[in-house]
Amino acid sequence: MNQCPLCNGPTTIFWLHDFIWEQVIVSNPDAKDLTCIRCAEVAIGRPLTLRDLSIDNFGHTAKNMIFKPGVMREYVQAFVIGACEASNNQGYWPESWTNADDRLTQLGKKVGGYLAKNTSDICPILDELIQAADEFNC
Ligand SMILES: [Zn+2]
Repeated sequence: MNQCPLCNGPTTIFWLHDFIWEQVIVSNPDAKDLTCIRCAEVAIGRPLTLRDLSIDNFGHTAKNMIFKPGVMREYVQAFVIGACEASNNQGYWPESWTNADDRLTQLGKKVGGYLAKNTSDICPILDELIQAADEFNC
């Protein structure tokens, strides 16, 4: 578990669009690499939603980290599965995806589910994220 540099609370690794992250950094120069969701929300002045999540940025970072092949792909998919489950779109994701029960998947699903609850008009963004996560290959 990673630690948020702003509140010292636990945080999960997740990726936002660059323009959202830039807003976080402007008000929190100490944030550097990551913050918890709550501190990011305080910084941008609103709840985070699925539209703030950047699958592309998961990929950019994954290239610089050491993971067992396929692990990052499953983690990305876990965010989307969690978002589908939390918005009553059970089974909306591709059948080929692994819906594992390991710790990393649970973390991703928890964050995805949380973001889904803050997201209005969810189907278009779910479609977009499903496509991006399905094409994700790191
Ligand atoms: Zn924090």
